[in-house]
Amino acid sequence: MKTIRFPDGTTVPALGQGTWMMAEDPSRRRQEIAALREGVELGLTLIDTAEMYADGESERLVGEAITGMRDRVFLISKAYPQNASAKRLPRACEASLERLGTDRLDLYLLHWRGSVPLAETVEAMERLVAAGKIVRWGVSNLDANDLEELVAAGGERCQTDQILYNLTRRGPEHDLIPWLAERRMPVMAYSPVEQGRLLAHRGLAAIARERGVTPAQVALAWLLARDGVIAIPKAGSAAHVRENRAAADLDLSDTDLARLDDVFPRPRGPVPLEML
Ligand code: NDP
Repeated sequence: MKTIRFPDGTTVPALGQGTWMMAEDPSRRRQEIAALREGVELGLTLIDTAEMYADGESERLVGEAITGMRDRVFLISKAYPQNASAKRLPRACEASLERLGTDRLDLYLLHWRGSVPLAETVEAMERLVAAGKIVRWGVSNLDANDLEELVAAGGERCQTDQILYNLTRRGPEHDLIPWLAERRMPVMAYSPVEQGRLLAHRGLAAIARERGVTPAQVALAWLLARDGVIAIPKAGSAAHVRENRAAADLDLSDTDLARLDDVFPRPRGPVPLEML
């Protein structure tokens, strides 16, 4: 499995697991837990959740899923922007830790930018690191100009930006991804199969058919072929987890990549960062 290095030197698998929309339906709970556990067994040890997801229930589900395997997992959660203040972030973090049944997060992200000044969030994150509650921190949904501000506000230890990035959302390639690459900060690509909508795309399906793989595998392999990109698909079944894991072993040829560029063109100019 390809690995990706954070600026602090830690490496993680380039393919992880998302958990948005998990724990929404009690009848699917057992299957979702089994899917996450199977993912960890297959090497998808990076798991992304957030206090927002299912109103905390996604964190509880992840906590249950990683019982007995916490130390093998690189655990990520995210705080609401309104909780990213000096006063509220420690409480939000403590609540996430409690729901996850753990004593630390491997990575804690600001979910998106709100009205709390970035300098205050940076300081609150660094305090959590000093207290051992989180090992490192990063952001999500910040565009290049926000990141400039973040660094100017003392945020040079930010480890990643989790953003909407997939074949149909190539806008970040224009300036955000180069900005991150210059600082050796990995991109964490969320909604890598566009929440499933990408899978019916005819151009993608045609390439997948010729390669004898699935559209999801081509979409994920395309992300994994790029430098410094971590992809975090959400899969609610063990079958999808296995299919996604196999995408990490799929080598797209230069011809495949060129065809994907034709079907899903690179941005020609600046595109404001989109979010879901
Ligand atoms: P994804 O692009 O990961 O798509 C998830 C959907 O694709 C689900 O319906 C899933 O179905 C389906 N799927 C997954 N694998 C396959 C497969 N092999 N074949 C067919 N269908 C498949 O969307 P998400 O929005 O969930 O993004 C991934 C993760 O990124 C989130 O779960 C979350 O952790 C994070 N995220 C972060 C955001 C942020 O603002 N920071 C915003 C959005 C997402 P099924 O469940 O049936 O397997």
